[in-house]
Amino acid sequence: MGETRDNDVYEEDLLDYDEEEEKAPDSVTAKVNGEAGKKGYVGIHSSGFRDFLLKPELLRAIVDSGFEHPSEVQHECIPQAILGMDVICQAKSGMGKTAVFVLSSLQQIEPSPGQVIALVLCHTRELAYQICHEFERFSTYLPDIKVAVFYGGVNIKVHKDLLKNECPHIVVGTPGRILALTRDKDLSLKNVRHFILDECDKMLESLDMRRDVQEIFKMTPHDKQVMMFSATLSKEIRPVCKKFMQDPMEIYVDDEAKLTLHGLVQHYIKLSELEKNRKLNDLLDALDFNQVVIFVKSVSRAAELNKLLVECNFPSICIHSGMSQEERLTRYKGFKEGHKRILVATDLVGRGIDIERVNIVINYDMPDSADTYLHRVGRAGRFGTKGLAITFVSSASDSDVLNQVQERFEVDIKELPEQIDTSTYMPS
Ligand code: ADP
Repeated sequence: MGETRDNDVYEEDLLDYDEEEEKAPDSVTAKVNGEAGKKGYVGIHSSGFRDFLLKPELLRAIVDSGFEHPSEVQHECIPQAILGMDVICQAKSGMGKTAVFVLSSLQQIEPSPGQVIALVLCHTRELAYQICHEFERFSTYLPDIKVAVFYGGVNIKVHKDLLKNECPHIVVGTPGRILALTRDKDLSLKNVRHFILDECDKMLESLDMRRDVQEIFKMTPHDKQVMMFSATLSKEIRPVCKKFMQDPMEIYVDDEAKLTLHGLVQHYIKLSELEKNRKLNDLLDALDFNQVVIFVKSVSRAAELNKLLVECNFPSICIHSGMSQEERLTRYKGFKEGHKRILVATDLVGRGIDIERVNIVINYDMPDSADTYLHRVGRAGRFGTKGLAITFVSSASDSDVLNQVQERFEVDIKELPEQIDTSTYMPS
């Protein structure tokens, strides 16, 4: 953390994303990645969490969580992040980016009554809820630290009362609600020392959300730590992110091919739109799965398909933006706890959401881009476990997206064979 900060964001009016100049990738990046890249994936570092010299209360919670070794991204980021450095980090889905900012903020926070010290923003309510839960899990033995989550769809009065009566030290939320609470002066950001954006590309690419984030950012003090995370950070968005930071440590997966999820078996099926339901039925009957997420392209299709599956006696539910917040969260929790085994969803849950038991993702409708594909299939095979992704291809434009995925991430996605060996995608 520098003494005086001089972020461009404070000085400039909102710049259009397209107007940003593109910068060449940083040399630091290459170095960090070159090192990290060779090391491979989970649990092969000789050092453990102990070497980070975290508070004993955190180490205890880490042990309780069953984390044995830091993942590559944790190994690269945590030592710097706990010193208060700004961090911009791209690492593939499911590699434990959340724990990076959760642990490093908890390590640094010294709670003062009535002061919000850390602010975490993300783009969906479900993700906000999940992040808040991670903070709670790792702060079990730090009872003085309070965390709360704020998003739209909940009566704002409830949030206002909470801030007044039990002001949390860590605030997790979606930008719209956080902004409303700050504008009404219920939420003061003047003591914020840690400003974190998860899925930062998503938050800064959409101009509306970016405007909100920027306005919130401007209400926080200059002197603070800024950390940003995503599995996808295009060369175009990186300079936008960096405008919020000062001399950040940059951890990028240098080569997009590395974004491919190891342990994830990927296939496609060519078929017509009309054949999709029949095929899906057959697959759900034939495949072995713990839990499966089926992605569709619209709210109405999610509702329709779910109805159909329920009529066929499949244990299915759906989540989409057309339902009330309460309903969304109840369903999400129900699925996470394993009450239903099939989730039909739109891209609302395409990013960030971590559900351990999901080992199959089906793209009933092709995602709109290679990035979206990556985020969706990243819901299976979390933290290096096995998984299977099956994508329905029913048009020329679907094939185009599939080809882009194969080129960008250097994967060879083959047609689904008649028989597929369960052991290749079922966690043992
Ligand atoms: P990302 O944000 O990178 O997509 P998450 O932070 O959601 O990934 O982590 C994915 C899963 O891996 C979570 O269930 C998390 O609890 C688990 N996890 C994270 N770090 C570790 C670790 N060091 N050891 C074991 N499991 C971990």
